[in-house]
Amino acid sequence: MRTPLIAGNWKMNKTHFEAIKLIQQLGYELAEHDFGKVEVAVCPPFTSMRTAQTLIEDDRLSFALGAQNMHYEKDGAFTGEVSAEMLKALRVRYVILGHSERREVFGESDEDVNRKVRVAFGNELTPIMCCGETDSEKESGETAIKVERQVREGLKSVTPDQARSIVIAYEPIWAIGTGKTATPDDAQSTIGHIRSVLGTLFDGDVASSIRILYGGSVKSGNAGQILAQTDVDGALVGGASLDAGEFAAIVKAIK
Ligand code: PEP
Repeated sequence: MRTPLIAGNWKMNKTHFEAIKLIQQLGYELAEHDFGKVEVAVCPPFTSMRTAQTLIEDDRLSFALGAQNMHYEKDGAFTGEVSAEMLKALRVRYVILGHSERREVFGESDEDVNRKVRVAFGNELTPIMCCGETDSEKESGETAIKVERQVREGLKSVTPDQARSIVIAYEPIWAIGTGKTATPDDAQSTIGHIRSVLGTLFDGDVASSIRILYGGSVKSGNAGQILAQTDVDGALVGGASLDAGEFAAIVKAIK
């Protein structure tokens, strides 16, 4: 039984003052929500992590805290970076790894993503590992090959026990922040393929326990249909996570 997860990736948005407001509004919007049925995570920028952590804990909110990235080294001369140990100390549960913006804008490779995934597990963090194809890869029918490579490379040397808890986010790059979404059928087909790849990497039992999210312009208006697909276990939400009412409506769209 996979508990669906709706995770909000705030990207480089919101000061820590604004983060307080957004989390409080979200707490209000989801006051009656059953978090045992649908898990909800917020992934603010690093400058708001401490604020978010204390607010969530002090107000006994049931949101999980997630980070948007981390470095794979333990410590040292890595100006501007944040380690897994630092996130763990903040009681961060999730860390988004290999987001297409990290891959495309900051040049992260599959190997970097794999190192981060393994270090995250070593620090009791749950990776939300992203994969997805570009527009031209989609047009040339390479979606399955691309996501398969990213999943295989990203999960190298990950044990079956670790794999059970990982979250994978299928995010077609052409859908991120564009207002375009994969059709529910296409999302199901690619996510189903990812699950079958996981079955060959581990086994069917492990594959069926891994949560696979869809991401790419999810809004309250399109969430219901996408999230109703058999293999879609929730959503990674960018733009729409910046509005408490809209994000809460996506959470409530899971039946
Ligand atoms: C994302 O950045 O992970 C994302 C899915 O963004 P958006 O929802 O804005 O397309």
